[in-house]
Amino acid sequence: MDTLFTKIINREIPAKIIYEDDQVLAFHDIAPQAPVHFLVVPKKPVRTLNDLTEDDKALAGHILLTAQRLALELGCEEGFRVVMNCNELGGQTVYHIHMHVLGQRQMHWPPG
Ligand code: 5GP
Repeated sequence: MDTLFTKIINREIPAKIIYEDDQVLAFHDIAPQAPVHFLVVPKKPVRTLNDLTEDDKALAGHILLTAQRLALELGCEEGFRVVMNCNELGGQTVYHIHMHVLGQRQMHWPPG
């Protein structure tokens, strides 16, 4: 079964796409929690952060650097937050890893 995000990657479900390359797709979150809120998703459908392996090191770095570059391009140079939720206790709802990037509002700590 394809994940929801694989369906977005395959253009079976529409999304507001920001960036794509051979490894990742970035698109705006459907329920934004900040003026800027987008997701960076690997095309490889890894279920959770716990399923990443040593073989995914370059991919994990690419996700992070893509998040950084797009955050800056979208006007978050004063600061932003990245979040990766893992499993139910971590608040994960879509089981295809993704990095949230949130910006253009004051972030608080601790998060909810
Ligand atoms: P999680 O809770 O797994 O960390 O994050 C999943 C995110 O995916 C949520 O922020 C949610 O709003 C977003 N999301 C869920 N379904 C869709 C969708 O169909 N399109 C887009 N663009 N985002 C979605």
